[in-house]
Amino acid sequence: MEKRDAVVVGARCAGSTLALSLAKKGWDVVMVDRDEFPSDTLSTLMIFPNTIARLDQLGILTTLHAAHNVPRLGFRIVGYGHESKGRFTPVDGHDGLIAPRRTALDKVLVDCALAAGVEGRFGTKVVDVIGSGTEGDPATGVVLEDGEEIHANWVFGADGRASKVAGKLGIEQTGQQSGEVSYLLAFWRGIPNDGYSTSAIREDAILSSWAAEDGQHLLTAWGDPDYTHGSKDVLLDRYLETLRSFPEILDPEVLENATMVSELFVAPESLMRGYFRKTNGPGWALVGDACHFKHPGTAQGIGDAIEQAIHVADGVTGGDPELAGYEAWRDARAAEHYDWSFAWGKFPNSPAAFKGWASEPDAGQDMRDSFSRQVKPSEVLSKERLARWFAPENQTVDA
Ligand SMILES: Cc1cc2nc3c(=O)[nH]c(=O)nc-3n(C[C@H](O)[C@H](O)[C@H](O)COP(=O)(O)OP(=O)(O)OC[C@H]3O[C@@H](n4cnc5c(N)ncnc54)[C@H](O)[C@@H]3O)c2cc1C
Repeated sequence: MEKRDAVVVGARCAGSTLALSLAKKGWDVVMVDRDEFPSDTLSTLMIFPNTIARLDQLGILTTLHAAHNVPRLGFRIVGYGHESKGRFTPVDGHDGLIAPRRTALDKVLVDCALAAGVEGRFGTKVVDVIGSGTEGDPATGVVLEDGEEIHANWVFGADGRASKVAGKLGIEQTGQQSGEVSYLLAFWRGIPNDGYSTSAIREDAILSSWAAEDGQHLLTAWGDPDYTHGSKDVLLDRYLETLRSFPEILDPEVLENATMVSELFVAPESLMRGYFRKTNGPGWALVGDACHFKHPGTAQGIGDAIEQAIHVADGVTGGDPELAGYEAWRDARAAEHYDWSFAWGKFPNSPAAFKGWASEPDAGQDMRDSFSRQVKPSEVLSKERLARWFAPENQTVDA
């Protein structure tokens, strides 16, 4: 019986990065995904400088830029009319964000993994895990939908929120939080790139607008959980109505002349819900959304998935061969950002904080740098700033 070093289930941010990193260390890796690539998946696409630096180190960024025109963007928040905008503090020279569509990014990730020697099995599902993943009965492989077994020393579940690997091993979600918003989004052509990713925040709605790649532009409208309830026609009308309700951000004439070039994607509240799962056990580990999901409002999922994949690959090929420290590391990295993502992702409702970020440049810089994980959220909203911004004399702020 042939036994591989690892089988990786899932081939997007977590799976391809893990498979690539293991292959670079000389491991014999099979990567399985039920999708064929290029393949889309729901996302608002933002990737911050910390993750761009990692993609650069892995050689993925060069391949991405060779295949697509992906602009580097500054970060602009207009909350209750208060604007804060700028670049990020550079990470290895990267001071802008990128937002490539997942058809582009995930294809490049897969191609880089295959080029590193990973064997790809696409368009076929993993339906079972061999072994219960417990002491005495470690995970030793997976079963594909046609009954084929792939045997391996490690089974990695990089298979997303509804992880089959986690399900088969009986790994439950813990620490769940609800999302409290929902999104409608679509890709457009004919909207000029102004060099910024812009999120405009009001009490009743949020509009996000940024360039993706090759002239495509993503427009996302956020509402409460009911916002995505209704027929296709109703949702399209609602989406367009929200876009038109931000004329100060989205020039009505530009919008009128632009073309929506994708279907309308619907992200219901249920997709925003967060959780943790136990990270690993005998013969298996989970990476990316399979092991943890934050509110997408802070756009940390791609970065987390890539960071975890690199950490796990470094561990099993070197310093932590049983991944004894993986869960504690994941929890420490996630702790503060988990609650922050939900505080930010649910309708941010503090005009005073937006005014603070807009009027104090160092505070605005810290806010941006919290998205690229250079500053902790607690430092962005330090006691001193909160005391100043929420002082009674400042509570007459306009909303
Ligand atoms: C609405 C929304 C907006 C978001 N916006 C952002 C953002 O702006 N920035 C950001 O960083 N993150 C964002 N995220 C989060 C981000 O999309 C995820 O964190 C990221 O895709 C996780 O990557 P992953 O590889 O772990 O899982 P996934 O991207 O879910 O990939 C899992 C793969 O596993 C495969 N698979 C699943 N089951 C099986 C099986 N049984 N057999 C074989 N293959 C299988 C699937 O086909 C899939 O290709 C957003 C998420 C949502 C829901």
